[in-house]
Amino acid sequence: MLKRIKIKDLLKSETFDYEVNVKGWVRTKRGSKSICFIELNDGSILNNIQLIINIADFEEDLLRRISTGACISANGILVQSGGKNQGVEIQVNTIEIYGESDSESYPLQKKGHTLEFLREIAHLRPRTNTFGAIFRLRHAMSYAIHTYFHNNGFYYIHTPIITGSDAEGAGAMFKVTTLDLNAIPRKEDGKINYEEDFFGKETNLTVSGQLEAELGALALSLAYTFGPTFRAENSNTARHLAEFWMIEPEMAFYDIVDNMDLAEDFLKYLVNYALENCYNDLEFLNNLYDKELIERLKSVSANKFERLTYTEAINILEQSNQNFEFPVKWGVDLQSEHERYLVETHFNRPVILTDYPKDIKAFYMKRNEDDKTVRAMDVLFPKIGEIIGGSQREENYNKLIERINELGIHEKDVWWYLETRKYGTAPHSGFGLGFERLMLFITGMSNIRDVIPFPRTPKNAEF
Ligand code: ATP
Ligand code: MN
Repeated sequence: MLKRIKIKDLLKSETFDYEVNVKGWVRTKRGSKSICFIELNDGSILNNIQLIINIADFEEDLLRRISTGACISANGILVQSGGKNQGVEIQVNTIEIYGESDSESYPLQKKGHTLEFLREIAHLRPRTNTFGAIFRLRHAMSYAIHTYFHNNGFYYIHTPIITGSDAEGAGAMFKVTTLDLNAIPRKEDGKINYEEDFFGKETNLTVSGQLEAELGALALSLAYTFGPTFRAENSNTARHLAEFWMIEPEMAFYDIVDNMDLAEDFLKYLVNYALENCYNDLEFLNNLYDKELIERLKSVSANKFERLTYTEAINILEQSNQNFEFPVKWGVDLQSEHERYLVETHFNRPVILTDYPKDIKAFYMKRNEDDKTVRAMDVLFPKIGEIIGGSQREENYNKLIERINELGIHEKDVWWYLETRKYGTAPHSGFGLGFERLMLFITGMSNIRDVIPFPRTPKNAEF
């Protein structure tokens, strides 16, 4: 038995004229009376390998059963090809068919499907060049994220997906319950009796791992979490998912400037990693979907991010004479149109905004002396808008209590979080990077549903 060799490795081969085994899915089959050519892809790389079949050497029926989408295993001699694009091809001796693919009904029989159509066949779209490239890049970015943190002395902390706290404050939550919805146990006052539920209390899917990541940082100094988060927000935009992945580092002894430095260095590392290790896939996406993709990646890597305060940004926006859909004045939350104006038109580079009004930011952000703003920092990117949200955290016990009371959060719901400020509190900072927002930037795709294998959005959880 010959050992299977991945197409990625075959295409790199510098030696020829020996027998190999290759396995994969047929992309196209064409030919003449005497010779048949099969383009085979196994997902290890964007490129296909060409199989050359001398028709007279095979049973007619075997070749007839092979069509686009079929999965086959072939043995043959690896040879140097005469063609201009390909270094190597395989002169096939034997073929085994693993799975036929009915050419009448196979949804990917023809090329050139729309991204909308491909979303409806999320179970098969990984077999297209586009989604092969995107999912290889998604893997490469995950790996680069862990590598970056590991190399910089961070510890990966696994924060819970089911949370007992509903004070994370980042959006509407999905309830987790095993109660019988047709016979909900109630207390005397009519309220649901969660004591009878699985955990004996109300639980939800997490909207962020930050609060628990902070607990890690206040013991391990540098910690990060990278996991799925869930938001039951009915926001049908091209930048929001109900289930998305988030990278959340938390750093003891970092102030907001250290935090910004880390965010900038981290993002540049990831962009450079993609340029250096995934150029083939990037080039494909650049040519097919976004002619400025590679230029934009290089530009982000080369330029220093512009840093200014929210208040300065509001002044720029007010003086911009732009007709924004949402009018700007001090105190409003910035919309993506405002963020993109700053990044794409005014500064022409990524922007980090700091010191937002406290009323539009979460309870845990450190209050500034002015009592009006907090030490928040959002990183804004071309084409995306907000890609990172972060802050220096409030480490002062009394100020934190004051803030949660103002906001009507119950102390008993966050008692464990508050205790870290009671026992050995420390200045610390952190941020959240939405993984799919990063993937939008890296791939140049314009809809977030196309950078995650199985998107979860309102009314959509088929696969
Ligand atoms: P937005 O204003 O864009 O909804 P947010 O202020 O709700 O973002 P945070 O709560 O700060 O975002 O979350 C941190 C990061 O997670 C964001 O910077 C973004 O990259 C990402 N993110 C937030 N919500 C979503 C979502 N629904 N789908 C995908 N990514 C998201
Ligand atoms: Mn949001």
